[in-house]
Amino acid sequence: MKVDVLILGGGLAGLSAAHHLGERGVRSRLIVEAKERVGGTAGSVTAGGFTFDYTGHLLHLHDPDGQALILDLLKDNLATHERRAWIYSQGVFTRYPFQANTKGLPPATVAECVAGFLETVHRPRPLARAPDFLSWSRATFGEGITRRFMRPYNEKLWRMPLSQLTTEWQGRFVPKPSASEVLYGALTEKNAQFGYNATFRYPVRGGIQSLPDALAGRLEPGVVRVGSPVVAVDLREKVAQVQGLGEVHYERLVNTLPLNIFLDLAAPLPDTVKQARGALRWNTVWNLNVGIDRPAPVDKHWIYYPEKHFPFYRVGYSSNFSPNLAPEGHAAVYIEAARPGGARVDRDKLEAAMIKGLREAGLLRRSDEISAKIWMPVEVGYVVYDRARTPAVEAIFRHFQTLGVESIGRYGGWKYSFMEETILDGKRCAERLTGAAAAPEAPPTAVLRALT
Ligand SMILES: Cc1cc2nc3c(=O)[nH]c(=O)nc-3n(C[C@H](O)[C@H](O)[C@H](O)COP(=O)(O)OP(=O)(O)OC[C@H]3O[C@@H](n4cnc5c(N)ncnc54)[C@H](O)[C@@H]3O)c2cc1C
Repeated sequence: MKVDVLILGGGLAGLSAAHHLGERGVRSRLIVEAKERVGGTAGSVTAGGFTFDYTGHLLHLHDPDGQALILDLLKDNLATHERRAWIYSQGVFTRYPFQANTKGLPPATVAECVAGFLETVHRPRPLARAPDFLSWSRATFGEGITRRFMRPYNEKLWRMPLSQLTTEWQGRFVPKPSASEVLYGALTEKNAQFGYNATFRYPVRGGIQSLPDALAGRLEPGVVRVGSPVVAVDLREKVAQVQGLGEVHYERLVNTLPLNIFLDLAAPLPDTVKQARGALRWNTVWNLNVGIDRPAPVDKHWIYYPEKHFPFYRVGYSSNFSPNLAPEGHAAVYIEAARPGGARVDRDKLEAAMIKGLREAGLLRRSDEISAKIWMPVEVGYVVYDRARTPAVEAIFRHFQTLGVESIGRYGGWKYSFMEETILDGKRCAERLTGAAAAPEAPPTAVLRALT
């Protein structure tokens, strides 16, 4: 088999690349996807009358092109929601984000958080040019907010000392309030909608799977081959071994598999790239989904659990995103814990701890019946931004450029991003491959203009 563009992986990045290549006149393209369905991490699984996503998958639309495409794909199958996110700590629910909503916590904690924040305003600490996350959090939010939320929550999520984590990933994901917002949030509940992503959209029917399905629906028959894992890629000969299809020869390669996985099946690689591969770190999201025979509390979409004695960092009610995700009178619940990538995890033990934690948190009552239960771990869940990440990624991408290989998406690009950005990655990749846009740095000389 021979194609102009071979795309590894049929998640949103791969589907978007294929769609935009098609729009730009490149017909000879093939997506090979290991699973029996498209969508990757933005997919859904049905079990016992429930539809479960890989934890919460909510649409935050910021870019005009991304928004236009997603709205056109989902049309009337989209509802807009005002975020109802909470934090549970010291036995109290407070609104997210913690830094702007401390009202309700014990007075000593509120005082500690507010005083610490005001100190950052009146006596700002000098910060290194590239600070670690812990120093940045102390300088930005103060000691109290760092101690009560930023540190314990992020340690649970990233599973590493925060002094080794950079701040490159957080950008708009960790909002900084003003001093007056912190004060208002300590005294009133006015700040409920503070921060980015205060509203989100979500499909009315079909879970988040309806988004990749709609994108795949734009492709001609035969462009996507599901159940077709790539097992090896010869980068020199430009040929991939795909289970069920045999050898697939290509002109250009677009990788959307997690970078670590792709590099493990690609050859030959120079030593610099092998070393860089060894420096990549990630965490695995251990996502247990359960269906219970009681409706979800209407005022909550999800809850953060920063405290150590809860085995999860977040629990959400997906049936509050869409009632169609659960049978009537039932709730679909997702529970998230993280572990370092590659760590051995005793699932049964973790599951027992999660169920116990749900009971202790008051989310599960003795009388509740669990009518569905399914593990949906995301093996490469979050790319770890330690000091080694960026130099390693740069070394790998420099090599890819010499080969004309594209590696895109949240995992192919080895970054912290979201669905809209992933779709835009596919669009930009198609533009580069057709000569309409330059590569970010030194562009590969051989572009696909000839093929359009
Ligand atoms: C826990 C969690 C929560 C998230 N929540 C949100 C959210 O609320 N909002 C939001 O916008 N974004 C969210 N995201 C991010 C979102 O999931 C990603 O941005 C997006 O789905 C990434 O798509 P992708 O195509 O880059 O990667 P993937 O979806 O991982 O696609 C890669 C594809 O490659 C396939 N593959 C793997 N190995 C092989 C192989 N050997 N051969 C062939 N195919 C293979 C996989 O099956 C997969 O389909 C979340 C992510 C996680 C982990």
